[in-house]
Amino acid sequence: MKDLGQRIDFHIHSIFSDGNLLPAAIAREAEVKGHSAIAITDHVDASNLEQVLEGLTKFVKLQGKSIPIKVIPGVEISYLRPDIIEEYAKKARKLGAKIIIVHGESPVEPVILGTNHTAVRLKGLVDILAHPGNNLTLEDAKVAALNGIYLELSSRKGHLTGNKHVAEIARAAGAKLLVNTDSHDEKDLLTQEGALQIALDAGLTEEEAIRVIKDNPQELLKRFQ
Ligand SMILES: [Zn+2]
Ligand SMILES: [Zn+2]
Repeated sequence: MKDLGQRIDFHIHSIFSDGNLLPAAIAREAEVKGHSAIAITDHVDASNLEQVLEGLTKFVKLQGKSIPIKVIPGVEISYLRPDIIEEYAKKARKLGAKIIIVHGESPVEPVILGTNHTAVRLKGLVDILAHPGNNLTLEDAKVAALNGIYLELSSRKGHLTGNKHVAEIARAAGAKLLVNTDSHDEKDLLTQEGALQIALDAGLTEEEAIRVIKDNPQELLKRFQ
């Protein structure tokens, strides 16, 4: 068996948006499933941005040291019109979001068209375009690659129907992929073996899949040291 390394998941929801668990429970469940790091990235809009980041940054600051895995506080900018995504990403950063994800144009949950196009152009602000779906264009994937924005293969029901397209376009564009779970409770979390399967099911070769679940997350993690 090849060494798959430790699991890192950059897309998880807590009770601060529509997840079922408190951050401490997510961290423990992830630890048990072999994670070395997680990002908690709750859905935000104008109504809850402050509360989400107050809660997540407080958790990491006060409790982070007593937890054996690294927890990164972040947000998933969800359903905002493309023309205000940048403004909210900047606000999130100011309020302590270490990682910023944009909810992409998944086959399910129809965010506004143009969200993918906008997100990949926010260099240094957006880290991951989540589940960009079958709308992902080669041009946008090339921009993501240039701007160091990772594209996501999702294990979440519905979102994962876009994975084959995303993998194919990312390969053609030289864009980097991650496998994230978009977990809303502990049953959604994956082991490295499960993540490998998602990458293989998306049509990646074994070598590509291992890079996606092992090397790419390690590389992205360096941004948050
Ligand atoms: Zn959600
Ligand atoms: Zn999500």
